[in-house]
Amino acid sequence: MHHPLEDVQDYADSCIRCGLCARTDCGNFSNGEPNLGELCESILNGEETWDYAPFTCALCNRCTINCPVDLRASRANKPLRALLLKQKPELRPLYRKFRTDLKHNIFSSLRARNDGDITNVVYVQGDPDLGGEADHTAFFPGCALYAYAPELTGKVSQWLRDERIAACTLVICCGATFYDVGFYDEFDAYRERVQAFLRERGIKRLVVACPHCAHILPQLVQGTGIDIVRLPDLLVEHGMASDSEETLTFHDACYDRSAGVFGNAARALFGKADIKAMPHEKRDSLCCGGGGMVSVYAPDYCVYRRNQRLAEIDEVAADRVLSTCFSCVNSLQRGIGSTPVQHYLEQIFDCPVDWGEVYAGVDALFADPAYEELCASDELTLID
Ligand code: SF4
Ligand code: SF4
Repeated sequence: MHHPLEDVQDYADSCIRCGLCARTDCGNFSNGEPNLGELCESILNGEETWDYAPFTCALCNRCTINCPVDLRASRANKPLRALLLKQKPELRPLYRKFRTDLKHNIFSSLRARNDGDITNVVYVQGDPDLGGEADHTAFFPGCALYAYAPELTGKVSQWLRDERIAACTLVICCGATFYDVGFYDEFDAYRERVQAFLRERGIKRLVVACPHCAHILPQLVQGTGIDIVRLPDLLVEHGMASDSEETLTFHDACYDRSAGVFGNAARALFGKADIKAMPHEKRDSLCCGGGGMVSVYAPDYCVYRRNQRLAEIDEVAADRVLSTCFSCVNSLQRGIGSTPVQHYLEQIFDCPVDWGEVYAGVDALFADPAYEELCASDELTLID
């Protein structure tokens, strides 16, 4: 159960207004204001001066990595979004196609259309026929990977079966796409459906590919006892490695900035490569521009952040930049940089994604009247 009002009040009370966060060059603070405590206070007081700011925030938490009282920007801006979404219901339809708690959304429709029938939304692939723990383990690739890179997803799924780690693959969302926007009640209802779905299938372990999913999944499966293991750790443990001798640089995902676990394991897979550091990486990584669903509300903020990141990537003069987050790859790919961008799994499984083909598929989906019609429905995910 979420209590956004209490969370925002707690934030406003805990922040000492030192102003450190507001010195960040992410585009969300003009002239060094508002700091996050002021932002909370202002919205709690019903003021409109900065009420756009929670929605233009990438939730990347870079501004609060050195917060003296250990606050995190996302802990202010997510509940602020939840409050504002209730006050401004006209914002809700903006995010409809990313409501992955609804059966027909951009990711499920893209996947279904590519498979030949836009109405046929599948939630699970593969049968529990391996025996042992693998039959209770599922691969959780995350929306962007399964929708934009079905072939790569298939290769990883097959590897997990070959290694007798996971028998099936779940083609469902962790809920971040709407939870992060502030659809808290919808997330609570979705969690109940996901948990019932996992229980029915006897799932006890999830292999997660995406740092953002890894951040949200503990909330989604809270109380079920389901273990979450990271795919890059399994790849390292099972001796997977790249032969690449290129000069590489890594773009670290926002949701991996504190722990660095995805980034460290992915780097370990490229032992023969020359890995160059970026000025801002790991804990201090810059956002790819795609964070926080800002593209829906204020695309200019995304473009600004993406360009900032791409400029830094190009300065490193690497042969390639790799990321552990497929959404980051998608965002960086859309900009005009000169360094090729890939997900590290594309290299490990020798399965490059053709982004021209991906975007042609997305354009065809948007032009399909059946998609608009399906997205007009409120049918829920995981209900037959
Ligand atoms: S850095 Fe932390 S304490 Fe300082 S203004 Fe920002 S949120 Fe408040
Ligand atoms: S975009 Fe990132 S750095 Fe900027 S306010 Fe949001 S969390 Fe902080």
